[in-house]
Amino acid sequence: MTEPAPSRTSAATSPARLTVLSGPTAVGKGTIMAEMRRRHPDLWISVSATTRPPRPGEVDGVHYHFISPERFDELVAGGKMLEWAVVHGRNRYGTPREPVERQLAAGRPVFLELDLQGARQVRQVMPEARFVFLAPPSWAELVHRLVGRGTEGPEERERRLATARQELAAVEEFDHVVVNDDVARATDEVLSLMGFDPQ
Ligand code: 5GP
Repeated sequence: MTEPAPSRTSAATSPARLTVLSGPTAVGKGTIMAEMRRRHPDLWISVSATTRPPRPGEVDGVHYHFISPERFDELVAGGKMLEWAVVHGRNRYGTPREPVERQLAAGRPVFLELDLQGARQVRQVMPEARFVFLAPPSWAELVHRLVGRGTEGPEERERRLATARQELAAVEEFDHVVVNDDVARATDEVLSLMGFDPQ
């Protein structure tokens, strides 16, 4: 992807229909999304399906739909995924199509958190969507956050950092970049971009 992103001058002012948030591992996407939910309990966030096992504290149907590889195959074969990707060279993640289409048909804003491959797929089918990249204040800070959260072993951490390097290199494909130097401030920015009251 070398061509520049098309300009979308209306994006900053018109109400968002579909917003995609991407960003490298451990940048704080989950924290920002939890803060968005806290401030706007009515905000609809798509629940992805994944073949990855749950982390401690993750709830099926809330954080993800945790499904088997066989079930994932069925959903893909049946055209039930809006997009899907193998992330960090390991597990599959995908967006169930039907709930997104239902929200959009009802005129309600939709929020997706996707890896770079998923964001690119959505851009192909919904170029009018708004694409937001959540960036770390620095590479060192990203590594620090990943090590600090302690949910991955050294091998998985390396895998995730390799993906993160590729994702950071693609930042120019996005309409907006939000630096997560402070959760409250970054959340304000994402909500404002979506046309929501940041409070
Ligand atoms: P984690 O395993 O840390 O929950 O997520 C790993 C990566 O998968 C994150 O970068 C996240 O953005 C991405 N991801 C989560 N859900 C989806 C999805 O439905 N589709 C795609 N393409 N990526 C996803």
